[in-house]
Amino acid sequence: MTSTIKTVRGMHDTLPDASPTWQFLEQTVSQTLTGYGYQQIRMPVVEKTELFERSLGETTDIVSKEMYTFTDKNGEMLTLRPEGTASCVRAGLEHGLFQTPALRLWYTGPMFRHERPQKGRLREFHQFGVECYGLSGPDIDAEIIAMSARIWKQLGLNSLELHLNSLGSNEARKHYRQVLVDYFQSHRDRLDDESINRLDKNPLRILDSKNPEMQELVRLAPSMSESLDAESADHFAMLQQQLDAVNIRYTINTRLVRGLDYYNRTVFEWITNELGAQGTVCGGGRYDGLVEKFGGPATPAIGFGMGIERLVSLLENRPEARIDHTPHIYFIVASANAMPTALALSEQIRDELPKIRLVMHCGGGSFKSQFKKADKSGADLALIIGDNELVQQRVGLKPLRTDTGQTDVSWTDLTATLRQIFSR
Ligand code: ATP
Ligand code: MG
Repeated sequence: MTSTIKTVRGMHDTLPDASPTWQFLEQTVSQTLTGYGYQQIRMPVVEKTELFERSLGETTDIVSKEMYTFTDKNGEMLTLRPEGTASCVRAGLEHGLFQTPALRLWYTGPMFRHERPQKGRLREFHQFGVECYGLSGPDIDAEIIAMSARIWKQLGLNSLELHLNSLGSNEARKHYRQVLVDYFQSHRDRLDDESINRLDKNPLRILDSKNPEMQELVRLAPSMSESLDAESADHFAMLQQQLDAVNIRYTINTRLVRGLDYYNRTVFEWITNELGAQGTVCGGGRYDGLVEKFGGPATPAIGFGMGIERLVSLLENRPEARIDHTPHIYFIVASANAMPTALALSEQIRDELPKIRLVMHCGGGSFKSQFKKADKSGADLALIIGDNELVQQRVGLKPLRTDTGQTDVSWTDLTATLRQIFSR
């Protein structure tokens, strides 16, 4: 027997039943982003491996162990993108976009990371990414956070909490790094293997340890706030003032470091306790040095990424997000002779009422079996045409979700009648 081929571990099909939730989310997010003046950019899924090594940092988890990297037929080292910011910076430089004074961009699509699959942690997952270039002040930080808060409001999600921190300037971070290394060195015997490994390479990431046995040590570690430079402290204070002005509540979390090397100053995450360990649905921050690092003009930047699968899981707790509200008609064709007329009437309905969903019954079968299918399809209304209707030049109308009985209408009045029914 031949064995069937299944999806790759950690990668999923999104089945038709789940699609209304995805579409609701995608439409809501893109409408809100457009409402703040953001424009969509579409980038390839495959990039040169070097792009991620140089932007994310070679010691980060993503680059050191999670990338889907391969050599193509010409021997070029390529990677399935693990995140979007690096590609966005590459595209911006390649096309001279950073000349625009305040460039607001968004994108969406699949990302790939070879992590251990579990609930809310996949190997192919989807993100919305938002990036703004050319603005260095706390005002854009506040606006971008307010925009994410509005997205939660539009989606009807109210369990999300904002965690906020400042990583300071690069110099301040270097200083803090040394303070941390000294602290953890003096407690080396209490570090787990992962943290010992991070001690040389990426000590800030120890603060992000998920190991319960490390929590006490992490809690007592010196805080970034003591190492913050004056300018970053001012920036952070102003950001808080502006968030207060728009009534956005936040928790200052000095342990929040984010996983990638390119962040500086403001970093933030939106977290829920409804999803267990994978509770961060959105994370981002400033990356003022990245464009320059890639040989571009000095360009301050801030952005965030949100995980679509985790948001979809939250929306699944809200059944109303799953309902597809498109008005829906099922056309029962009770006699093969009526098919040409049924097709012609369907096309006429589609011409005049383009927003309605009309499913034509194809494939024949008895009236009874077609009626069952109509009912199961979730349609609001069945249209019926058989030999009698053909002779009388009429169509039967049967509401499927109320007790109303069947009526009929002439072919010429059909679209006007439907328009009336669905405008109620
Ligand atoms: P985490 O700490 O959960 O690993 P991260 O810091 O690696 O997240 P980012 O790189 O900032 O995540 O990506 C932004 C968002 O994308 C995350 O907040 C999360 O919602 C989502 N995300 C990241 N990795 C995955 C994954 N493997 N599977 C599903 N969603 C993910
Ligand atoms: Mg991660």
